[in-house]
Amino acid sequence: MFATLSDRLTATFKNLRGKGRLSESDVNKAVRDIRLALLDADVALPVVKRFTTAVRERALGEEVNQALNPAQQVVKIVNEELVTILGGETRQIRFAKNPPTVIMLAGLQGSGKTTFAGKLGRWLKDRGHTPLLVAADLQRPNAVTQLEVVGERAGLKVFAPERGNVGGHDAVAGTGEGTRSFGDPVSVSRAGVEHARAQQHDVVIVDTAGRLAVDTNLMQQAADIRSAIQPDEVLFVIDAMIGQAAVETAQAFHEGVAFTGVVLSKLDGDARGGAALSIREVTGEPIMFASVGEKVTDIEVFHPDRMAGRILDMGDVLTLIEQAEKAFDKRQADEMARKFLAEEDFTFEDFLQQMSAIKQMGSLKSMLKMMPGMQQMRAQLDAFDDREFDRVEAMVRSMTPFERTHPKQINGSRRARIAKGSGVSVTDVNQLLERFRDAQKMMKSLARGGGGGLPGMPGI
Ligand code: GDP
Repeated sequence: MFATLSDRLTATFKNLRGKGRLSESDVNKAVRDIRLALLDADVALPVVKRFTTAVRERALGEEVNQALNPAQQVVKIVNEELVTILGGETRQIRFAKNPPTVIMLAGLQGSGKTTFAGKLGRWLKDRGHTPLLVAADLQRPNAVTQLEVVGERAGLKVFAPERGNVGGHDAVAGTGEGTRSFGDPVSVSRAGVEHARAQQHDVVIVDTAGRLAVDTNLMQQAADIRSAIQPDEVLFVIDAMIGQAAVETAQAFHEGVAFTGVVLSKLDGDARGGAALSIREVTGEPIMFASVGEKVTDIEVFHPDRMAGRILDMGDVLTLIEQAEKAFDKRQADEMARKFLAEEDFTFEDFLQQMSAIKQMGSLKSMLKMMPGMQQMRAQLDAFDDREFDRVEAMVRSMTPFERTHPKQINGSRRARIAKGSGVSVTDVNQLLERFRDAQKMMKSLARGGGGGLPGMPGI
């Protein structure tokens, strides 16, 4: 899933790597590549258009972020726009105030509804609920039996309409209701919900019939069930493998049964991802679960941000970008840029600010470890001592404000005082001042060569 899309997006970012500034034509080329990658992944055209327009505008726009280099900035924008089209926040199930919470499943035949009924039931059971499955798919002769098998595997009770089929399950055999209502999915659904209430199940999952294609009878039946049982959630299950057809099907079901959430099934397959990226935008309803295999435990809550991270295949880099941004105060960054341009001296005051920004990012070591390509340097990293930072900071803090802004004036007696104040030797202070002079020189040459922001991260 998403493999090709991931590869192509990553290749696009690689092309931007090492650029100090992005020209309009750089951005246009990147956006063109992104558009083709999305179209090839079967993302619906209107969604592709909206997505690429947003990315282009933001990449060219005023959104200059001092903490990130241009390639990182584009990764960040693409990531944020992906999260947006995938729905933003994770959407949880809305439970009814007065149980049972009624969840109705709808979708085409073969989409994975029945399988998902078992998975969802099991998922809820593992979280302390007492779900009942209701077999209201009376279209296929086998559907009821199939739900019973699924229920048994998941350790769940199943309400089925037929006397002979109920076996040891908690069903309506003998109540008369089930026998009488066989063949009428609306009555079965209603009876199922009543049964759940009577038996104190706190959730009811109603599996309804699907057809091979959208048709009016199917829609009418689903709509009738919906009005009979007034579900708290109507989950539309869709096979992620059906590509472009997903959008039309989703629209038809949205109009027909007004679903409240989407389940993407068969995400474990080699679907190109178009359905996932289009459905939320097209219907406005959130993707709530992903079904990722044939086992009853193959279910995942759908988190738009994690899914975007998976698509970009750069989870750690994204975390790093986020932390760098948090730590890097825009005002400070502007101030720093001004200093570079005015060729003012970088002072120990600036140095202290940077130190505290770096500290906010967490330990430097753990940060470095997150960077792609750093695995090989593990040994060096392990040898690096974060406490070195503290020593340096102590020395700088022992300087007077005058000394911090005029490091050249720090003579021998001042050095001795600083060493004493911070508990280090004069040699240590000498070394710090020497390194600081080198750093100042480097800053100057950086300023002349453009750049700024964080040093480039390997990988992007
Ligand atoms: P329904 O007609 O909508 O109830 O669909 P089913 O639940 O019967 O599923 C149709 C087929 O898809 C079955 O063979 C399932 O085993 C398979 N299936 C369902 N969900 C998944 C999934 O998440 N991954 C994979 N690989 N297969 C699935």
